[in-house]
Amino acid sequence: MTQERRRSAYSRQAEAEYLALFPNSENNAALIAEKGQGLQAYWRDFLQQPDWYIPLEPFLRDWMQTQAHDDPQSEFMRKPFSDLVGGMLEGEEIPLGQTGPNFDAKREQRIREGLPAVEQVIVHHSELPVGSDTKAEMRKINALGFIRQFTDYYMQESGSDGEPNPWYGKPVWSGHFDNQGKQVFYAYNAMVNPQGEATWLLENPAYTLWHAGGAANTNSAGLVLLGNYEHDTPPGVQIATLAQIITDRYSDIAPENIRGHKEVNPERTCPGDKFLGETGWKRALQDAVRRVSDQKS
Ligand SMILES: [Zn+2]
Repeated sequence: MTQERRRSAYSRQAEAEYLALFPNSENNAALIAEKGQGLQAYWRDFLQQPDWYIPLEPFLRDWMQTQAHDDPQSEFMRKPFSDLVGGMLEGEEIPLGQTGPNFDAKREQRIREGLPAVEQVIVHHSELPVGSDTKAEMRKINALGFIRQFTDYYMQESGSDGEPNPWYGKPVWSGHFDNQGKQVFYAYNAMVNPQGEATWLLENPAYTLWHAGGAANTNSAGLVLLGNYEHDTPPGVQIATLAQIITDRYSDIAPENIRGHKEVNPERTCPGDKFLGETGWKRALQDAVRRVSDQKS
């Protein structure tokens, strides 16, 4: 396909009008809702098609696939799209694949070779404002995994070897199912909210979750703290619950093998600049894991 994909005139205008409200977002709530809903109505028609990501590719490339940190304007633009996708996935309104590539092949290979499915725990923060509704937080994480990880794979017309991607244009599939048998796109095994409540997203240790990058995805568990801790320390109760679920589910993991995302992928800042160092919360987490393990033994 040689023809360059362009945004429709409608989309360009509607995005610009929505973005223009950003600098005064506190004073423009009603207008933001109205413009956001206009964009969502436009996106919704595409999202009901199996190859929705092809017509929406210019938007996805500009706003959804980028790794911007500390960028409230990007967050502002992403929100109506992520909200829409989260709701449509929950309502089963986006056509999903019934089959697709085996994203878990390397991890299954490890398990066949007798290696532990999990040999390290990787800690993340969600970098997003947190609401009080657990279901809404799950929808958000599911939508982001769907858009930024699995769809990103399907959007590639050819693989890294230059061969055409046979799945290009096909409906997106993860091959990952929650305990209700519903296909989901989470990048983490579990999440912990700032009130210290843990929710399991994916419990099957054979799933490769795309949370850390590279080999770490195939040998680790991914746990996410809800909240933006780029420059803050999470509440004590949130760290305590994280320690509790690590000792409950990953009792074989030594405290030394609990790492932050940025320790396995130096291009990332996650889980924030208060994690490492003498007074960093990584130490508090490791100490709490040791304490809980000692109480159990
Ligand atoms: Zn992370």
